[in-house]
Amino acid sequence: MGRTKKTDVTPEVTDDRLNDLCLEWQTRLRLLDWAIVVRFVRGHELDPGTVGDCSPTMTLKRATIRIVTEGDYSGGNEEPYSVENILIHELIHLHVFPFYDPHDWNTPQGIAAEQAIDLIAGALVKAKRGQ
Ligand SMILES: [Zn+2]
Repeated sequence: MGRTKKTDVTPEVTDDRLNDLCLEWQTRLRLLDWAIVVRFVRGHELDPGTVGDCSPTMTLKRATIRIVTEGDYSGGNEEPYSVENILIHELIHLHVFPFYDPHDWNTPQGIAAEQAIDLIAGALVKAKRGQ
């Protein structure tokens, strides 16, 4: 069965569940000293071609993570929509930012870093699911 294209903005995962997931993965990734606000946004609020982002204030260890709603998920990478995958990806960025925060992610190093983050996030989701 194909996925039904949703037109409303109501995510399958509630904001409460999203916060629970964030805390769960902050614990696993040892990021509990970060004050993180995580929320769903519409696709047009994000940079084109992205499904989430993470804006840290390194000196204060505060960050805002934004995740596209399922209805606006483009699935450009042919992966099924996974809030958890996007969330973990953005959380791993917090570990990476201190030593790699390029202005342009389209450099060879930026692409390599992005790919590494994405593969690690995917592996963690699969590990949790026992896959
Ligand atoms: Zn990324």
